Amino acid sequence: MSHLAIRESGAHVKMHIMANIYLDHAASTPVDERVLDAMLPYFSEHYGNPSSMHYFGQRAEAAVEAAREAMAGCLGASPSEIVFTACGSESDNLAVRGSAFAQRERRGATHILSTPVEHSAVRKTVEQLQTLHGFELEYLPVDEYGRVSPEDLAARLRSDTAVVSVIFANNEIGSINPIADLAAICRQQGIPIHSDAVQATSQIDIDTRRLGVDLLSLGAHKFYGPKGVGALFVREDTPLIPPLTGGGQEFGLRPGTHNVPLIVGMARALEITKEDMLEDNAHFSELRDRIIEGLSGMVPDARLTGHPRERLPNHASFVFRGVDGNRLLAALDMAGFACSSGSACKTGLPEPSECLLALGLEREWAMGSLRVTVGRHTRIAEIEAFLEAAPPIIERLRAAAPEASS
Ligand SMILES: *Cc1c(COP(=O)(O)O)cnc(C)c1O
Repeated sequence: MSHLAIRESGAHVKMHIMANIYLDHAASTPVDERVLDAMLPYFSEHYGNPSSMHYFGQRAEAAVEAAREAMAGCLGASPSEIVFTACGSESDNLAVRGSAFAQRERRGATHILSTPVEHSAVRKTVEQLQTLHGFELEYLPVDEYGRVSPEDLAARLRSDTAVVSVIFANNEIGSINPIADLAAICRQQGIPIHSDAVQATSQIDIDTRRLGVDLLSLGAHKFYGPKGVGALFVREDTPLIPPLTGGGQEFGLRPGTHNVPLIVGMARALEITKEDMLEDNAHFSELRDRIIEGLSGMVPDARLTGHPRERLPNHASFVFRGVDGNRLLAALDMAGFACSSGSACKTGLPEPSECLLALGLEREWAMGSLRVTVGRHTRIAEIEAFLEAAPPIIERLRAAAPEASS
């Protein structure tokens, strides 16, 4: 929908000006001002290539290494275990593809265990390893909340498993997996485990030692850092064959000239996230609970998706029976509320998300998904405005939908 279309209609001009409320922090977050301040000098003043020998290079290299130390400190890791990448998706790729190739090379392991509720950065990667590279892909079962049980992992883990990849906190439905318990099982058998923590980082205090994972992916723009930069925690002595080849940057695991300002910004963003986490989470969960209580109470045939308690503090997600999720998003946007359906198809034939189908939801429900994710700047008044606007919109769309006749 274009802003032009909104401005053409007098009724909507008012709405557009009155409300433009961002409730999609699982998709991206604004860059924190303190993060922006930390980044700025590295665009213009300290522009050297960290790989250069001279003063300018050393100045930039020092910033990259300080960022690495800061991130390691936040994650209970050592600096040599932090690899900078260009995004969360790239971290996922390096972890899963890199580990699969390395484990096959070393011990002929060709079995991959993952879940049907991964972000596409993991899901498409394991699928490609199966279809193009001869790996055997097996999905762990998930419960009605999209969570993996340690027992199911223990039952399916094999000596020829190359890598296990389980999402930490689900981007679509907010459920949190018992990663420490899953990692303990893998460690016992000496099988590397990766967790996609891109969505988790903003709200879960991640200590890689305590968690026991071998590989863990982060993406800065989900925790008030800049877009286009990420990191992968790689536990010492975890073999990886890098999918990208080139220069020797990042311990030979990720070639390419460092994006110094973005790396500096990501480290600052992670420090702030850790410092403010208790306060942020208290704020988030108050707003989230109001959304869940409000929509569940006011909208008939509504179900919360994801775990009722083991879920991200900022994450409310629903399905509404007989509602077209894409039309719902468009109507909410028109009314000034930016939400998401989790992983809706933006063009062409709408299909229910694989994550929602994996929960066992029928198509009639899964097509009507809505994800509402709050952030540091979200105010309770904005949530009240949303709760006033959303129920009648949902009801209107349900009445208009052909499926609603039943
Ligand atoms: C956003 C997200 C990604 C992708 O991160 P980018 O930095 O946008 O590439 C991967 N996994 C999860 C769970 C995410 O939420």
